[in-house]
Amino acid sequence: MGTFKIITLGCKVNQYESDGLAMALSAAGWRPAPAAAPADLCVVNTCAVTASAAMQGRGAVRRAIRENPDARIAVTGCYAQVAAEAIQEIAGVDFIIGHGDKHRLTEIIGRDPGPAPQTIRRRLGRSEPFASFFTGPPFSRTRPNLKIQDGCNAFCTYCIVPHARGPSRSMAVETVMDHLKSLGAAGCREVVLSGIHLGCYGQDLSPAASLEFLMERIAAERPVSRVRLSSIEPPELTDGIIRKTADSDLFCRHFHIPLQSGDDGILKRMGRPYDAAVFQDRVFCIRNRMPAAAIGVDVLVGFPGETDAAFQNTMALIRDLPVSYLHVFPFSPRPGTPAATFSDPVPPQLVKARCAALRELGEQKKGAFFRKQTGSTLRVLVEGRRDRATGLLKGISENYIPILMEGSDEHKNFFVDVKIDKVFEDHSVHGVALHPSSI
Ligand code: SF4
Repeated sequence: MGTFKIITLGCKVNQYESDGLAMALSAAGWRPAPAAAPADLCVVNTCAVTASAAMQGRGAVRRAIRENPDARIAVTGCYAQVAAEAIQEIAGVDFIIGHGDKHRLTEIIGRDPGPAPQTIRRRLGRSEPFASFFTGPPFSRTRPNLKIQDGCNAFCTYCIVPHARGPSRSMAVETVMDHLKSLGAAGCREVVLSGIHLGCYGQDLSPAASLEFLMERIAAERPVSRVRLSSIEPPELTDGIIRKTADSDLFCRHFHIPLQSGDDGILKRMGRPYDAAVFQDRVFCIRNRMPAAAIGVDVLVGFPGETDAAFQNTMALIRDLPVSYLHVFPFSPRPGTPAATFSDPVPPQLVKARCAALRELGEQKKGAFFRKQTGSTLRVLVEGRRDRATGLLKGISENYIPILMEGSDEHKNFFVDVKIDKVFEDHSVHGVALHPSSI
């Protein structure tokens, strides 16, 4: 066995799967390659969610081939699943591995690749099992992701993900608990529970479970000190989930909600099963119970048929709501999805201008949210690496504020109570570490 590198694009679920692949390769005798040295094996874990992610994936594959001339090159992830043909055209690729087989990576890369890339990909049907990776703790992260749900049944009209990842399926409750216990025992303080459609967690299990049920189990056993939930669709962000978060010191007061549009007509065209009023209600439900909670919002800009009036509905909704930050994405047609053939495309220049306007609004929201925390004391998890520019310790609060502070290395990977001291123009937040947190 030789050395390996993994290049990861895309979401938290991909990061989890790359961690899992790294652990599987290590267990099979491969060693991580030093950063500047070429590797004997390069795995590119791709994303297909936008045209730009797909392009970055092709670029990453070409760069991996160029920088690691003697390496075996394996391409996996969503882009490998939906566009294997485009990857086959890149000379130098040895293996293209779809989602259904990526857990067999160590076995597949041992094969003789032959002259053409070997493509191992199949359609993911209803009976596809949940693919779990961790067999031990990922030491690379202070806050590891744990994928507890994969796939999606929703088929929003713009989205390629259900085509790439197949139907919704969940990790069994006991398996989630086992993973959390092993992560906690290995010293991981915070775990991010991730999924593609996290709000559907447990619906496919027998007996059926739910995110609320899982939260109850976690709260009863407390296998780790802190748990963060990744994004949850508005209709699935139940009063129970919000209440359980508010009543607990275990679940982070941080919600990420995909809005996509604040215009009801566009939401309908997107195939999203809620309207702006539902979204608004969810935000106020959180804010009324948790005044300091972080509320992040995804917005998709320039969907076909998005008129100026429709865009202004999105702007107005967000402007008037107490949300904390925005993730803004321009619409890009994904081949094979209904929206790729919709009429009334929005001109690229207009999409760009609308994205810029929303991002500016997002910056204002973020600044206001951060400044509101000045003077308060937050429980911060100090990360393993110092901030490169300032040399200060950096940490993350439960309400998702990145905080810089003076302090000794002993604080790394521990919770510290930090008083928020100053928020600078560039939105960097400085705090004073008071003492290790008692929790
Ligand atoms: S809920 Fe919609 S946007 Fe989210 S993964 Fe499923 S299809 Fe895509």
